[in-house]
Amino acid sequence: MTVGRFAPSPSGRIHLGNILCCLLAWLSARQKGGTIVLRIEDLDTARCPMRYAEQMIRDLRWLGLDWDQGPEVSGPNKPYFQSQRTALYQAALDRLEAQGLVYPCFCTRAELHAASAPHREDGLTVYAGTCRNLTPAEREERARRRSPALRLRVPDKEYSFTDGHMGPCAEHLARDCGDFLLRRSDGMFAYQLAVVVDDAAMGVTEVVRGADLLSSTPRQLYLYQLLGLTPPEFIHFPLLLAPDGRRLSKRDTDAGLDSLRGRVTAEELLGRLAELAGFHPSGEPASAEELLGEFSWERIPREDIRLPAGLFE
Ligand code: GLU
Repeated sequence: MTVGRFAPSPSGRIHLGNILCCLLAWLSARQKGGTIVLRIEDLDTARCPMRYAEQMIRDLRWLGLDWDQGPEVSGPNKPYFQSQRTALYQAALDRLEAQGLVYPCFCTRAELHAASAPHREDGLTVYAGTCRNLTPAEREERARRRSPALRLRVPDKEYSFTDGHMGPCAEHLARDCGDFLLRRSDGMFAYQLAVVVDDAAMGVTEVVRGADLLSSTPRQLYLYQLLGLTPPEFIHFPLLLAPDGRRLSKRDTDAGLDSLRGRVTAEELLGRLAELAGFHPSGEPASAEELLGEFSWERIPREDIRLPAGLFE
C-alpha cells in the first residue's frame, strides 16, 4: 500500500511552494488509494516554534488536505514532531558509530568556508575532509576547546537512482558532497539523518518533494543502506519561482498564505496551482478531491515553474 507524507518545516508561514508540495504528495498517494502521514520537521526548535506548526496544521486543514497519521489524528508511529523523536536519531547514530563511520569535526563555519571546494548550485559546500583523519590525541586536544559536530564518512562511489519524475540521477558522494553532517556541534541532528530514520519508521513508500532536495537523495540512499532500511520511491517536482525568477522562500510574504487567505478560497488557490503545475488546464477553482481525476505525473513539467505576476490580485 502506498504511504505518502507531508514533511513541512514550520520556520514561517506556509507558501505556495509548500502548498504545491503537499497537494502533489496528497494527489499522488490518494490516487493510488494510499494514506498520508503528516510529520512536522521542527528539529531546529529555535527557528520552528510550536505556534508556526499549529498555524501550518490549520492551513493544511483549510486547504482540505487531510492526513491519516500525524498531529491531531495520532497513529502508530507517534510522535509526529521531529523535535520529540531525538532518541530514534541517537539510536541510528549509534549504529553508524558502531560501523566506524562517524567522526568528530571541529571546523568552524569560517574554516569550512575557507577549506571547501567551490560551492555547488544548491548552496552545499563540499567538505574537504579536514577532520577525517585526526589522531585520537588531536581529537582530545580539540575537544577541550570546542564541542564537535559529527560527520559520516562517505565512500568514493557514485550513488544513482531513478527518480519517479525526473528520471535517472546520480551523485559521486566523495567528490560532489564529501563527508556530511549527522549532528551539529550544538547537538541538533541533521535533516539527512532524521528524514531517513522517520520515513523508514513511518512506513513511507513514496516521498514527493521539490527538486531542491534531489541532490540530497544520494546521501539519504547511502544512509538507508548503512542502516539496513528499505528506501521509498523518490518523486521530485519542479520548483516554483517568484515572477522575477528567484526561488520562493518563507520570507516571500506575497506567496505566503498570510496574504492569500483573506483574498482567495482554498479551491481557487488549488485550482490555479494545479493549472501552473500543468494538470488542470482550466484553472477553475477545484478541491483536492476534484483534482484527483486530472492529476498525472506525466502532465507536470520538469523545468522550474515561474509564477505569473499578480497571480491572485
Ligand atoms: N522539511 C523539508 C522542507 O520543508 C522537507 C523534507 C523532505 O521532504 O524530505 O523543506
